[in-house]
Amino acid sequence: MMMEHSPVDPVGQPEEQAAEAALRPSRLAEFEGQPRVRGQLGLVLDAAKHRGSTPDHVLLAGPPGLGKTTLAMIIAAEMGVPLHITSGPAIQHPGDLAAILSGLVEGEVLFLDEIHRMSRPAEEMLYLAMEDFRVDVIVGKGPGATAIPITIPPFTLVGATTRAGLLPSPLRDRFGFTAQLDFYEVDDLRGIVLRSAAKLDVRIDTESAQIIASRSRGTPRIANRLLRRVRDYAQVNADGQIDADLARAALKLYEVDELGLDRLDRSVLDAICRKFGGGPVGLSTLAISVGEETETVEEVAEPFLVRQGFLMRTPRGRVAMPAGWEHLGLTPPVEAAQRAGSGTDEPDPDLFS
Ligand code: ADP
Repeated sequence: MMMEHSPVDPVGQPEEQAAEAALRPSRLAEFEGQPRVRGQLGLVLDAAKHRGSTPDHVLLAGPPGLGKTTLAMIIAAEMGVPLHITSGPAIQHPGDLAAILSGLVEGEVLFLDEIHRMSRPAEEMLYLAMEDFRVDVIVGKGPGATAIPITIPPFTLVGATTRAGLLPSPLRDRFGFTAQLDFYEVDDLRGIVLRSAAKLDVRIDTESAQIIASRSRGTPRIANRLLRRVRDYAQVNADGQIDADLARAALKLYEVDELGLDRLDRSVLDAICRKFGGGPVGLSTLAISVGEETETVEEVAEPFLVRQGFLMRTPRGRVAMPAGWEHLGLTPPVEAAQRAGSGTDEPDPDLFS
């Protein structure tokens, strides 16, 4: 069950998705932040244009809301070709993938979101398609089954994943370029808020944009969402103009604290500290105790809590760090402080990959 009222709900409702689409930058030059990725991707695209060929397959990795879908759209727009969108969970049978691939026209871009959630047989078909632009469709069953090779036109696959570490290496190796997206700097997010406000015709000053940016957990999707919620508040409680006091009051109402923790983040942290004595506690137990899905806890709440130094992922489970206890106004037990000092529990290296 999702938390319905969270302003940072990762699963957008249809109207949220429409609002998001309206705010997407359409060219690389408008894509704020991520200078390294922007520079490298720009080069890949320019080189392909120069050669008059299809760009290499691109893998975009990073937590939700950092711009993977946006970049896929930008790649297609920069190359002047249509974009086809699908996702790992939508492709369970190799036949589904064969149908999509054989429908592509030369040079087109196929965006495959959540690529780590594709079924294994479909994944194997994808290897061949990426490398040889061919798929083998199996016709018939048992000993009489035959593989019919189908040639597909050269295309660019843009794969997106929140967990690059979960991709088998044969798949990872077939991407010519991998972009690891990092959380955004506050300055970049402020730029995104100001640009989105202009698009939405919302009056906001720089200080308020800075307040929203600094509570957006390094994530453009959250920055845009908080902006829209603050705008709602301004329309109801003022004349629509957003100033710093109004922004603070609105964010307080939506339960987003000074560091950008929302209700889900705080309930995860609170559960570890109060229900499980600071941990270690297993992910699934933790997820059940906050009424969320494990993926949401793992991919939406945890990366930010780890980044803030509030939580640690250890081989034995999730553990609250002293700073996490203190953020909730609690006194960390002696063991938490010792654990933090001893550094014996290794954080999971796969967390952001
Ligand atoms: P992901 O696919 O990684 O979950 P999206 O591409 O859907 O993320 O981005 C979420 C929202 O954030 C979109 O509305 C998009 O416009 C905005 N966004 C993401 N990255 C940027 C950026 N670098 N500059 C401006 N807006 C961005």
